[in-house]
Amino acid sequence: MEKKRVYTFGNGKAEGKADMKNLLGGKGANLAEMNLIGVPVPPGFTITTEVCAEYYDLGQDKVVELLTKEVEKAVANIEGLMNSKFGDIENPLLLSVRSGARASMPGMMDTILNLGLNDEVVEGLVRKTGNARFAWDSYRRFVQMYGDVVLGMKPTNKEDIDPFEAIIEEVKEEKGVALDNQLTVDDLKDLVKRFKAAVKNQTGKDFPTCAYEQLWGAVCAVFNSWMNERAILYRKMEGIPAEWGTAVTVQAMVFGNMGDTSATGVCFSRDAGNGEDLFNGEYLINAQGEDVVAGIRTPMQITKIGSQRWAELAGVSEEKRAGEFASLEEAMPEIYKELDAIQTKLENHYRDMQDMEFTVQDGKLWFLQTRNGKRTGFAMVKIAMDLLKQGMIDEKTALNRVEPNKLDELLHPVFDKKALAKANVLVKGLPASPGAATGQIVFFADDATVWADEGRKVILVRIETSPEDLAGMAVAEGILTARGGMTSHAAVVARGMGKCCVSGAGALNIDYKKRTIEVNGKLLKEGDYLSINGTTGEVYEGKIETIAAEVSGDFDDLMKLADKYTKLQVRTNADTPHDAQIARDFGAVGIGLCRTEHMFFEGEKIKAMREMILAENAEGRKKALAKILPYQQEDFKGIFKAMNGFPVTVRLLDPPLHEFVPHDLKGQEDMAKTMGVSVEIIRQRVHSLSEQNPMLGHRGCRLGNTYPEITEMQTRAILGAALELKKEGIIAKPEIMVPLTGILYEFKEQEGVIRSAAEKLFAEKGDRIDFSVGTMIEIPRAALTADRIASSAEFFSFGTNDLTQLTFGYSRDDIASFLPVYLEKKILKVDPFQVLDQKGVGQLVRMATEKGRSIRPDLKCGICGEHGGEPSSVKFCHRVGLNYVSCSPFRVPIARLAAAQAAIEE
Ligand code: PEP
Ligand code: MG
Repeated sequence: MEKKRVYTFGNGKAEGKADMKNLLGGKGANLAEMNLIGVPVPPGFTITTEVCAEYYDLGQDKVVELLTKEVEKAVANIEGLMNSKFGDIENPLLLSVRSGARASMPGMMDTILNLGLNDEVVEGLVRKTGNARFAWDSYRRFVQMYGDVVLGMKPTNKEDIDPFEAIIEEVKEEKGVALDNQLTVDDLKDLVKRFKAAVKNQTGKDFPTCAYEQLWGAVCAVFNSWMNERAILYRKMEGIPAEWGTAVTVQAMVFGNMGDTSATGVCFSRDAGNGEDLFNGEYLINAQGEDVVAGIRTPMQITKIGSQRWAELAGVSEEKRAGEFASLEEAMPEIYKELDAIQTKLENHYRDMQDMEFTVQDGKLWFLQTRNGKRTGFAMVKIAMDLLKQGMIDEKTALNRVEPNKLDELLHPVFDKKALAKANVLVKGLPASPGAATGQIVFFADDATVWADEGRKVILVRIETSPEDLAGMAVAEGILTARGGMTSHAAVVARGMGKCCVSGAGALNIDYKKRTIEVNGKLLKEGDYLSINGTTGEVYEGKIETIAAEVSGDFDDLMKLADKYTKLQVRTNADTPHDAQIARDFGAVGIGLCRTEHMFFEGEKIKAMREMILAENAEGRKKALAKILPYQQEDFKGIFKAMNGFPVTVRLLDPPLHEFVPHDLKGQEDMAKTMGVSVEIIRQRVHSLSEQNPMLGHRGCRLGNTYPEITEMQTRAILGAALELKKEGIIAKPEIMVPLTGILYEFKEQEGVIRSAAEKLFAEKGDRIDFSVGTMIEIPRAALTADRIASSAEFFSFGTNDLTQLTFGYSRDDIASFLPVYLEKKILKVDPFQVLDQKGVGQLVRMATEKGRSIRPDLKCGICGEHGGEPSSVKFCHRVGLNYVSCSPFRVPIARLAAAQAAIEE
């Protein structure tokens, strides 16, 4: 049997359904499903995502040939249901052609509306509808959209506006009118003529008049748009594979631009910004869908309450609001009732917040799309917890609804209140995506990328953003636009990225050519500082410091729920009491890695450390170590206190030595003075410490084994701190960890030093404390001989940073020289230093755990490399049966959630 490439839907019947997203794309699958559950949807058909792959394999002509029979049959099906004919002069059917991948990619690919018009058909449409204005407006829109998307009519220069918009401006000026809707039917006819002439002029081709030629052009353009720059970039950001491809959905047009009984809108069953359980959205009377999302006209609110809130923000009087800006609820109450009933039905059906598009054609409501709505991290947590409370979903589903990495957004900065009190509000826009951001004004996406590469923080300021601005949006701290509502692309994309955004700040006068903003009598230039609050919509002049966010409520409830299912414990990597406290607040149940070398970065401590490294013999080192000991002991006390009762793994020194010694003359002179030797001696010593690759040099337990007095001092500091706290009634649970072990005897030597230093200290103090001695597993040889090592080591902690370095043979410090190319060429799918390589490095982790436990069944195993806070790696650690993961404090919630999801997936 011939492969099926086209799936039809309409009039309550459909060949597809909701769970066929992989084949039909999200849009196609949900349109089919809506038909099946009785939601009014214009009839149509979906060309499968598999055809997208065929398109790239076989090329345009072959794919059109493969599709022709099925598409013609499906068009005939629409014609039957709509009682009209595609391309017919008397009773024309118009079509829309839209993209739809498995995962939603809002605005990244192309759409063509009003397809099937030409100079004769438009007259037919005039006769059929008796509405010349509508017919010619649709034709004008079609030529413009088709010209842009299919025929590639773009501005030649980034400072120029769209060529069609330029023609519209030209005509409006000639006619002396300010608004599009003041153009007469003759003006619209004139526009179409000029548009077509511009197409001929720029492309050398006539605008196609045959309906099927138009249709194939549009279908292929949608397939092409799968590979446009912004779609590729979006996929990269969202981790969507290029192989998935897009489906193409072709549907009978319904018209929101047929006059004042027609409208179009976008709505959400809950608030995508803050998660509030409140139906909301925006609409425009007498308009087509792209007018709402493109942010060209600022739309009105769907509900009365939304409209009132909007008016308050915008400073619009109640009288004006209820008149000129009336909500759909007030302007079209019957339609609103039906809309509200269907949105409830759809949310109940999908059991998740829905993002929907609708059109009202001459008093009849049609749904054009529904999908699970994109939302901020904050809304994601609130909606999941609310749906759980409302009994719509169960606990496990609630946990799975939250994307671990997106929790990061909840921990986002807000403005420092004191700094904010002194700040000047320049203008107010819509609170399109929450958070606080401060940076330098930049007007063009490509400039934003360059500036960000130079390490500058930027706010991307645009009149309105188009999806082409995506790269600039991704690198900006925040986005500010003069036009567009809450459902404009700028707002939707920013929320998806968790990026702070203020949109529709209409008082901004942006001049791209001069690169300035004029606002309320003030002139700001490119490079000036600006601060924006995406939660309130306020825009401030200058730079305002930001601080970390506070988390509680739903977030806490979610974390508690996660703990109910989690088997893996989550510890933190922390080297200071401050970081340890943050991690405790985020629910870490211990420290998995305290890097003691990081304790020397500040003040006088670095000097003592340098003295120890630069000393020529054991005697000199002991002198320096005696200075270090009290610092270390105090630091350990602080950390043990913050972790009151929870275990703390302290790693013995593991510094690439030469990083700690002074390389500048001033520093060397300082050290010469401190140590009472000549600068020349210091210089020679620094020179002798330099290594070709310090990461593979004199570090880890190689240091403790060559200079055992260091291990001795650290043991005294750790256990001394614990003994002192014991007197204060504070329990410390130290775990002393030997770094970079590769050979059993390296570990045994160190263990010997630790245990004898401990016994000596206990005898001196007349008291003792329980502690364990274990090792990092971060050298492949250690993993391979883990059973031998476990005969002595009481715990393992996988240092997957070094283990990745040594398994791949990629230097941790030098990977940047080739990694981008490897990712580009897909030699590597991801950076293995961020996402654990489960096939290779992961195999070593699994094997070492098994081997270690074969000798010591209760061997505690954890991971403390960067991977300990990365969701897919955390899940892997769960499957391998590790006891804990350890990550930086801000990733603790992410790891806790990922651990719960791993347990649920079991
Ligand atoms: C590791 O190698 O994974 C590790 C945690 O140690 P460091 O990053 O300090 O080398
Ligand atoms: Mg390491």
